[in-house]
Amino acid sequence: MKEENNALQEIKSLVDKLNKYSYEYYVLDKPTISDKEYDLLYDRLLNLEKSTGIVLDNSPSKRVGGEIIKEFKPFNHRKRLYSLDKTKSKIGLINWVNKIKKLCNNESFNMVLEYKYDGLTLSLTYNEGKLISAATRGDGLVGEDVSEQAKTIKTIPLTIDYKGLIEMQGEAVMKNSVLEKYNKSASEPLKNARNAVAGAIRNLDPKVTAQRNLDFICYNVGYSDYQFKSQCEVHEFIIKNGFFASDFFFSSDDIEKIYEKINEIDKKRKTLDIQIDGAVIKTDDFSLREKAGYTDKFPKWAIAYKFEADEVTTILKDVIWQVGRTGKLTPLAVMEPVEIGGATVKRATLNNKNDIARKKIKINSRILIRRSNDVIPEVLGVTQDYDDSKEVKIIEYCPVCHSKLFDDGINLFCENMNCTAQILCKIEHFCSKSAMDIEGLSEKTIKLLYEHNKIKSIPDIYCLTKYDLIGLEGFKETKINNLLNSIERSKKVELYRFIYALGINEIGLKTSKDLAVHFKSFPDFLNCTFESLMALDNIGDIMASNIINFFELPENKNLISRLFNAGIQIFYKENEDKQNFFYGKRFVFTGTLLNYKRSEASKLIEDNGGEIQSSVNNSTDYLIAGSDAGSKLQKAIEKGITVLSEDEFINLLQNNS
Ligand code: NAD
Repeated sequence: MKEENNALQEIKSLVDKLNKYSYEYYVLDKPTISDKEYDLLYDRLLNLEKSTGIVLDNSPSKRVGGEIIKEFKPFNHRKRLYSLDKTKSKIGLINWVNKIKKLCNNESFNMVLEYKYDGLTLSLTYNEGKLISAATRGDGLVGEDVSEQAKTIKTIPLTIDYKGLIEMQGEAVMKNSVLEKYNKSASEPLKNARNAVAGAIRNLDPKVTAQRNLDFICYNVGYSDYQFKSQCEVHEFIIKNGFFASDFFFSSDDIEKIYEKINEIDKKRKTLDIQIDGAVIKTDDFSLREKAGYTDKFPKWAIAYKFEADEVTTILKDVIWQVGRTGKLTPLAVMEPVEIGGATVKRATLNNKNDIARKKIKINSRILIRRSNDVIPEVLGVTQDYDDSKEVKIIEYCPVCHSKLFDDGINLFCENMNCTAQILCKIEHFCSKSAMDIEGLSEKTIKLLYEHNKIKSIPDIYCLTKYDLIGLEGFKETKINNLLNSIERSKKVELYRFIYALGINEIGLKTSKDLAVHFKSFPDFLNCTFESLMALDNIGDIMASNIINFFELPENKNLISRLFNAGIQIFYKENEDKQNFFYGKRFVFTGTLLNYKRSEASKLIEDNGGEIQSSVNNSTDYLIAGSDAGSKLQKAIEKGITVLSEDEFINLLQNNS
């Protein structure tokens, strides 16, 4: 009896909490916790409801979505919209398949697999070929009339070929690239694509919707006066009538194949320009759907496979400042440890001083963080402030050398060239693989040598002797010899590597190569003028001034002369580039390479004078496709760009050498 009471109390408390979170999410479009945290509470409620048989009337397990905003005209859907049942495991999928199989006398049945888009569901009604209304899902029966807002979305056709009465369902989304662009200049950045879309459409001013540059991806037909027979037929209809359809659509009657595809999608999802949080598996045949039916909340003929969430919330404990090579300070969030994407994280980046103000970041507040491809997650914004939340103190003095910082309006800079943090970063950059490539001089070793006064500046590396290294922690004879050999080897260096190693502000690897190809010798580069630099493609006034200013500083003149005294020899590979297959061509990678890491393959191409691009565009010359090639492959094919297999790439490398 006591146990039952406890369970009832917990159910009541969970229902209250979840309803509060749903209100913040669906009505206010301002969630205070992440979807992952919501889903954990929701799963706990489902388990309790199942084990006790108690389901309260206001339980979120009985309802779709949330209330509608009163300012919008209500819209009665002709056919109800639903949520989706969810699983996170293969077993969950197999159980679902087995239930459906029972409806087909244990015969196999065809399934379709689509992306599960993370945006805002819209239902568009067309009659006589014209868009007559658009509505949100709402509680599935009644949504909000957002016709004016929807009309501003360019990928929603205002007219279609089909002349009957039909409701087209799909998801309004904001591409990641659009969100990134918006956030660069927005006074208050939007936290994520889903909130951005919801806020843009459930906004009384259609101009705001238009400015947000949304897209609509169509995946379903709701009410229709034509009887469709299958999802495959619907998919064709969607494309034929000019909707933006999913660029992924897979069908099979084999759950193993479907599961394989789901894993492929999971691997490549972070490279897509559209936010997806899972994949949806649906029965293809509509007569089977009728047999399967619906619960209060979802169709039994479909299931969503949800991916591991990459956004979570946690408490910000402190902000620390990291000094980089150029003296720029990057604020780092120190957080209560939290698990995300299978790893426990304690730190996240805050980009710059302005980001702290724009995102209204406060210490002791709850923050939303996302882990994308980068190792260090990014702080997206604050979801909740508390009584003890306090402003982040913007520092005035360098945390390492204590000199007064310079504020350029966005970033803080330590201008003390003798700041230890800067010196260490400069030495690390000089020794890095793409620069002088001195194997054995890792961040840790550089720090050790610096602390033992063995190196205090870059040229000191070339004065190191065996006697400096003997006795240092971890340095035995082989390690000492290896390090001294790689230092000696680095003395003969290609021009572009040396230019890059100098660490001139804004001069990355690509620009260093352009400069090397143009000047061909270091003395010629050293004697360049602002005008001669400005005459080059890809060099603007900031880069040109940075180069001129760099060479004018006495400490840099001293650095260069000490390096030459140490025996540095710079060479330029004269025009062998022109016969080189890779020279001057642009390459994009997709999928997994079996023989190289991406970074290794990229370096081989760059060393041969080629350029690596992150995405396929009209200037791309070749796409190199490994296994599990993603949407880039499709794009390359559409654009008629030559696709090379990994074997073809290896052959070209071998024939080239
Ligand atoms: P859902 O978003 O998890 O899935 C159902 C929806 O997916 C459908 O209604 C449809 O709109 C959409 N969808 C996308 N691609 C589709 C496709 N190819 N085919 C069919 N449908 C597709 O479910 P929901 O009911 O909209 O929302 C519940 C989820 O919302 C929760 O699991 C939780 O993650 C989140 N939520 C979060 C909070 C919070 O406070 N953070 C609060 C409430 C809900």
